[in-house]
Amino acid sequence: MTQTIIDKHASTPWNLPDYASARVHFDWPQARATLAGLPGGGLNIAHEAVDRHVAQGHGERVAIRWLGKSGERIDYSYARLSADIARFACVLERLGIRQGDCIAVLAGRVPALYIAALGALKAGVVFCPLFSAFGPEPIQTRLEKSGARLLVTTPQLYTRKVAALLPQLPRLEHVLTVGDDVEGTYHLEALLEQGEPDFPTAATAPDAPALLHFTSGTTGAPKGALHVHEAVVAHAYSGRAVLDLRAGDVYWCTADPGWVTGISYGLIAPLVNGVTMVVDEAEFDAARWYQILEEQRVNVWYTAPTAIRMLMKIGATAIAGRDLSALRLMASVGEPLNPEGVIWGNNTFGKPFHDTWWQTETGAIMVANYGCQPVRPGSMGCPLPGIEAAVVRRRREGGLEFLGVGEEGELALRAGWPSMFRTYLHEPERYAACFVDGWYLSGDLVSRDADGYYWFVGRSDDVIKTSGHLIGPFEVESVLMEHPAVAEAGVIGKPDPFAGETIKAFVALKPGYAGDDALRKTLIGHARLRLGPAVAPRELEFVANLPRNRSGKIMRRLLRARELGLPEGDLSTLESSDGA
Ligand code: ATP
Ligand code: MG
Repeated sequence: MTQTIIDKHASTPWNLPDYASARVHFDWPQARATLAGLPGGGLNIAHEAVDRHVAQGHGERVAIRWLGKSGERIDYSYARLSADIARFACVLERLGIRQGDCIAVLAGRVPALYIAALGALKAGVVFCPLFSAFGPEPIQTRLEKSGARLLVTTPQLYTRKVAALLPQLPRLEHVLTVGDDVEGTYHLEALLEQGEPDFPTAATAPDAPALLHFTSGTTGAPKGALHVHEAVVAHAYSGRAVLDLRAGDVYWCTADPGWVTGISYGLIAPLVNGVTMVVDEAEFDAARWYQILEEQRVNVWYTAPTAIRMLMKIGATAIAGRDLSALRLMASVGEPLNPEGVIWGNNTFGKPFHDTWWQTETGAIMVANYGCQPVRPGSMGCPLPGIEAAVVRRRREGGLEFLGVGEEGELALRAGWPSMFRTYLHEPERYAACFVDGWYLSGDLVSRDADGYYWFVGRSDDVIKTSGHLIGPFEVESVLMEHPAVAEAGVIGKPDPFAGETIKAFVALKPGYAGDDALRKTLIGHARLRLGPAVAPRELEFVANLPRNRSGKIMRRLLRARELGLPEGDLSTLESSDGA
């Protein structure tokens, strides 16, 4: 493990977010008290995210700045957004969609998606985002599972992917399309025009269902995690404490709203904290990204290791001459962020990426390099104030064994934080199996150091057992990434009669490097030197790309299945350009 510490105060002094400095005093009721609540009691995410800013006189502030693929720009003020989401809530009511029903949205990063999400929440209707690049099969299973009564989508997606599924989706009663008229669907804009801009907010209780998020399917078939309105307390708090969001900031979350990050931190946390959030319709493009950071004067940027690795691969020339002086904080989520990524960030932007750990199930950031703490490259950081974490092992006879400093075990969180998922839809036994003695078990293996920082070892399914050692792929991959030729690496275990498992690495190179025998030997030699022969990969294969899922995670289970000729399992979230 890299133990270098970057003290951000050395390079970027700024006022500490309130919560982070108030570690000792933190409690959830205090976080809840910063929210407005509904006038007659109750809590509703849409009210906290939009309407209360208008009520407090900030209606003219830009809430969403939408950047279209071909250069268009549309600004939605908080006031305009408030009226649009009211209209959408009204449309839902007129179509007979009731509190507790579910609606889904299948669309790219278009304004209608954000309006539908907030409008549904305002109406007390559960919102379920579907990733727009899904094929018909994953769309069908998710729509079926969610029981969605209404779908918002685009004419193209409707014609290409949805129309043929309708006979198999009897519960889906209405389809609303954005833009052109499409036969058999309602025209969203036309309906919105007839909606009422002051439609009242549903009086939702804090534990009323709000969001249905499917997991990324990294380890198997995706699960439907259900969240409630009270989650907004954790979004508001973590947005402030970890991302340092302040009213009036310009903020950019690059995650797709088809995943939990793109809703928790690409919609709710920023708006609740009164920022202007940038939404870019286009796909990843290094030059465009740097241009957005510069031209929009982005203050806070939340992205993912896969994007950071792509920027690293492209190199420093893409950023030369850009004025990124507005950038105050950069953070990452989705996968472990290799220490090289943090160090590269520090060298390139003059500040480190703050790694943050959480899951679809946790709904909000749980462990992070946050607030007043120095960033430790390669570490997930510390549990947020208010979050009680532990490293545990399940006892065979039942119950948990709590592990000490330096010991590897499963990351557990004391149940009860506001954004905790409340069930896996239609899988109550699976949900129950996540909890032991009041602790939620995450399925991720970690260790904790003497200062309370947590270090990711691997997903419990990905961990490799070789010659009596338990090895997390992340540590081996991070060591390979230290070599200048390596753009990214994925590591798996292969059954071996003597060692139990041996390690095989798949490596993608940066442009300009040839994957020949000499480089293979050099990389294995580097790993042996850094990790010792027992832990270093025995085999190393060069590949053009690693298979990843749509939320950007390396799919080690697929590398392993392909290597061993095993069934590939659920591939509904696999990115098609995986180089296979
Ligand atoms: P599935 O549960 O369907 O297999 P998934 O776990 O990838 O998919 P998500 O909820 O999107 O679905 O991802 C959460 C997981 O991502 C975490 O459990 C962890 O394994 C990984 N992860 C997220 N952020 C980090 C991080 N900062 N460091 C290490 N791992 C991370
Ligand atoms: Mg998971």
